[in-house]
Amino acid sequence: MTFLDRYAARRTWDEQEQMVLDQVQKVADEVIAPAAAGYDASGEFPDASMDALNALGLNAIFVPEAYGGAPMSYRLYLECVSIISEACASTGIIYATNFHGMKPLIDFGSEEQKERLLPAIAEGGMGSLAITEPSAGSDATGMKTRFTPDGDDILVDGEKIFISNGDVAERILLFGKWSEIDDAKGAISALVVEKATPGFTPGPKENKMGHRAASTVSLSFDKARVPRANLLGAPGEGLSILLASLNKSRPSIAAHARGIARAAFKDMIGYTNERVQSGRCIIDFQANQFLVADLASELALVESWTDYVGTLIDDGASEFGQEASVAKLRASDLAMRMSTEAVQMFGGYGYISDYRAERLMRDAKITQIWEGTNQVHRQLIGRSFAQK
Ligand SMILES: Cc1cc2nc3c(=O)[nH]c(=O)nc-3n(C[C@H](O)[C@H](O)[C@H](O)COP(=O)(O)OP(=O)(O)OC[C@H]3O[C@@H](n4cnc5c(N)ncnc54)[C@H](O)[C@@H]3O)c2cc1C
Repeated sequence: MTFLDRYAARRTWDEQEQMVLDQVQKVADEVIAPAAAGYDASGEFPDASMDALNALGLNAIFVPEAYGGAPMSYRLYLECVSIISEACASTGIIYATNFHGMKPLIDFGSEEQKERLLPAIAEGGMGSLAITEPSAGSDATGMKTRFTPDGDDILVDGEKIFISNGDVAERILLFGKWSEIDDAKGAISALVVEKATPGFTPGPKENKMGHRAASTVSLSFDKARVPRANLLGAPGEGLSILLASLNKSRPSIAAHARGIARAAFKDMIGYTNERVQSGRCIIDFQANQFLVADLASELALVESWTDYVGTLIDDGASEFGQEASVAKLRASDLAMRMSTEAVQMFGGYGYISDYRAERLMRDAKITQIWEGTNQVHRQLIGRSFAQK
């Protein structure tokens, strides 16, 4: 037993949580992982993998009971994301995006909104979170999408880009600026847009380096008419909703990256224990042992920090933004390094798509970019220590 096995064995889950994890692991092993390379190659949306997760009712673990869910701990949700992402990063991000898009509705929506909009999600409907625009990425406050009140409706005009699940989601949490508020940050507002809204058109699927099965599209809004009843909070309350929401989606992105890192580590250990050169398994070369030691140590720290952040949120902590940034930063940097080193350890075979190391490396890169680039997270963490 290695120290990583001992850490995994000591993580405690109650009986119901363990049952969920066993079911998710079974689906990951039997349905999702075997299909992952095929979906990556074809770029098709992984319907069968999502159907298998929906057959377990997995969205329900983050939806309150009153709206059709069966909520469980956030730490458990994070572990589910890691298990799914280890099997297929595309499926992992599709599932996690349901949470990213719908958690703000759960946390900030009115009773009426939740009763109306959440049951479809609990039953397996997809969610999406739309913030990024062509000229507003890291600085989301530069967004230009406009919300104009019109009687009982809001007219939406603008364009979002790079939106995960944007073409498949039943509900999109959309951020834009309230036309009647003349303040770059104070105008930001949040609205739930439903799938078949007239004036709303999703663009074609982007051709991406990784996560090729997951859907990433632009969204265009041309006087799209959305009921005012779908506005979250009051006009101008969007920025605080946005920041609070990102603090909960960033640990989820960390859990997704942790899944990629676990997959790359397992493949690397398997291969280095089998591949013989110069009469020795390649793990018997000290240079490679040093590498494995560094990566295993870092994986242990990412495992435990991600669990820690999950527990913080489960315990109702009110401040965890920097902790979430640390989790996102370290897990995504590890996923990139682990998968790159896995390719290196596989030698020439690592560069060939017969082994999944190559896919993991392509899938890992975006984890350093989305949900705040890692430069932005370094800035957020670093400036929290500035004393003046
Ligand atoms: C596959 C994919 C899926 C995505 N899914 C979604 C989604 O579902 N919803 C959504 O809203 N968005 C999504 N995004 C968008 C993603 O979050 C943005 O791409 C990301 O926030 C970076 O914004 P940008 O691409 O405009 O880069 P920019 O902000 O233009 O950054 C370019 C470079 O400048 C650096 N930089 C910028 N500002 C600073 C700074 N202050 N200090 C130091 N360096 C800085 C960045 O780190 C980066 O290296 C997705 C993107 C991709 C590619």
